[in-house]
Amino acid sequence: MFNPADKIQDLQYFGEFGGVNPSISDSSTYTFLSAKTMFDTFEGNADGCYLYSRHSSPSNLYLSQALAAMENTESANVTASGMGAITATIMQLCKGGGHVVSSRTIYGGTYAFLKNLLPQFGSHTTFVDITKMEAIEQAVTSKTKIIYLESVSNPLLEVADIKKIADFAHSRGLKLVVDNTFSPLSVTPKNLGADVVIHSLTKYINGSSDTVGGVICSTLDFINELKDVNSGACMLLGSTMDSFRSASILKNLRTLHLRMKQHSVNAQYLAEKFEQAGIKTVYPGLKSHPSHELFKQMWNEEYGFGGMLTIDAGSLEKANALMELMQNRNLGYLAVSLGFYKTLFSAPGTSTSSEIPADEQLEMGLSDGLIRFSIGLDNDIERTYQEMLKCIKEIGVI
Ligand SMILES: *Cc1c(COP(=O)(O)O)cnc(C)c1O
Repeated sequence: MFNPADKIQDLQYFGEFGGVNPSISDSSTYTFLSAKTMFDTFEGNADGCYLYSRHSSPSNLYLSQALAAMENTESANVTASGMGAITATIMQLCKGGGHVVSSRTIYGGTYAFLKNLLPQFGSHTTFVDITKMEAIEQAVTSKTKIIYLESVSNPLLEVADIKKIADFAHSRGLKLVVDNTFSPLSVTPKNLGADVVIHSLTKYINGSSDTVGGVICSTLDFINELKDVNSGACMLLGSTMDSFRSASILKNLRTLHLRMKQHSVNAQYLAEKFEQAGIKTVYPGLKSHPSHELFKQMWNEEYGFGGMLTIDAGSLEKANALMELMQNRNLGYLAVSLGFYKTLFSAPGTSTSSEIPADEQLEMGLSDGLIRFSIGLDNDIERTYQEMLKCIKEIGVI
């Protein structure tokens, strides 16, 4: 059976002096033994030759290869940030004013790009409730090129039926692009039919909140298209990762399976306890989650339901007071982002999803009192729960 962590483990790279880590490529440009090879490389016909580090570098290729193995795709290309991966992919696929059908509950930056920036290049987006198949079907027009979604959506933790949507996309000649940032290892979108799988490496995959990074995993043809010197969005928009960063992310990737298991165990524990205490809690691992069964059809079980959960504190005032109190008690940080060793929390309505207008937030169920948690790697989660419960009671959430 396919196991993404085994695929990563099977890839070993050595340094040029036999080091246990690959050497970091510390060059922006590369020499050629002959002028002819340089010409061929620019034409795209000299496999294995490096040209210039915006195109590719040995360190970036190591990390890309490991992430392609993890997502079970032919190839991958790392980028300077998750948004660098998302924007390059969409612009490459939406040539000539192509239309996008997108989930309406997506990362705020992606939403802002699709809604405000992409129309300047002639492409428009219809936002839909991704859990409603009819809504997706109705939104497709003759100009549609892609369907865009997140496996587990930010911040509402809606789960998309990737297989069903992929089958529909292919029946209409469309590409399915999936942002899998919230569920690395747990969900393998390519195995369910996704054409392009994207991650913000900034989150779980790097896991140490010390850099931004992104990746696009897909067919060799599409990755080559993105890197084409004449028309590739990665090559020409220039969101290239630095070699030092790709080397450090590759080292952190080696512990991703251990971290994901611990994030999932801790989040499952807290979600169950919060729900039992009478707090409105959303977590895909709860039976009360509308897509609990669907997630179980799609998952690689041992990595669990992930580390993200939300609770409703009732009002923005209570949410803010609770987050400040939990931070004072050293239970986590009031910060955006996710996938850190420490629990992070924020109120999406006034932070990561503030790009979404208030009336639209309301319509999609993004309430004022919503707190999004990225549950950390705490050793004793029962102890953490007891301390959190004290804070919750002090603020009067229950
Ligand atoms: C953070 C995030 C992004 C953007 O990634 P950056 O690395 O910050 O550019 C995209 N999608 C999701 C789901 C995210 O959480």
